[in-house]
Amino acid sequence: MSLPKLFLHIHTTYSDGKNSINQIVKTAIKLGLDYICITDHFSNSWKSKIIPTLNNLDKIERYLEEISHCQAYILKKNRKLNLFKGVEIDISSSENYIINNIHPNKFDLILFEYLENLEGIAFIKNIIETWKRDRRNSNKFPLLGLAHFDPSFFTLGGFDVLLGFLKQYNIIIEFNSSYPRFYSRKYETFFNKLEKNNIMVSIGCDSHHISNLKDVEGAFRAIKYYNLEDNLKNLINSLEMRKN
Ligand SMILES: [Zn+2]
Repeated sequence: MSLPKLFLHIHTTYSDGKNSINQIVKTAIKLGLDYICITDHFSNSWKSKIIPTLNNLDKIERYLEEISHCQAYILKKNRKLNLFKGVEIDISSSENYIINNIHPNKFDLILFEYLENLEGIAFIKNIIETWKRDRRNSNKFPLLGLAHFDPSFFTLGGFDVLLGFLKQYNIIIEFNSSYPRFYSRKYETFFNKLEKNNIMVSIGCDSHHISNLKDVEGAFRAIKYYNLEDNLKNLINSLEMRKN
């Protein structure tokens, strides 16, 4: 059985992507993709000075409405594509900025980028715990993932803490075609642990243009190489559950 085609890391004109959500959805339908997730940037660190981001509640509302609108279009046209609402949070942003602007129950997938040390793990844990304490989030909590995770930061120690964190919060590790060096064989022990601990994996390539929407092969090959197909299937099951 071949795996469904998925691509869960896409930028649009709401941040530094070159295409509208609508153009991306139409291209994804043409390419025959099964699952996509729009994940524009959210940041108030250095990144927000150099690229557009989802920088206020109104803009986030418009962004989510536009995705809803495209979801309705897909349904009406009876296409097989599944479109999800996501966001990519830069963890060098301030905690207050994240808590005040990101309401997790409005998203299907929240990616965190730039996890590079144990302090980063503590920062993300704290955000998740704050979200979980808010009762509005209790009935619909998003999937959580680490965008273009770079294992090199944890080779000198910390893999076990990281693994504990991934298991405790059911965090997805994204395989990203734009960063082949992150899937080097020198990290084999880490990937073996992902397999044994049933950590979900996903596929993205940090697409900023519709021409990149087909760039899933590199990530997919790495997932196969490390025998993580079942981990990918677990993610697909979780996406299926979110459809209803
Ligand atoms: Zn990105």
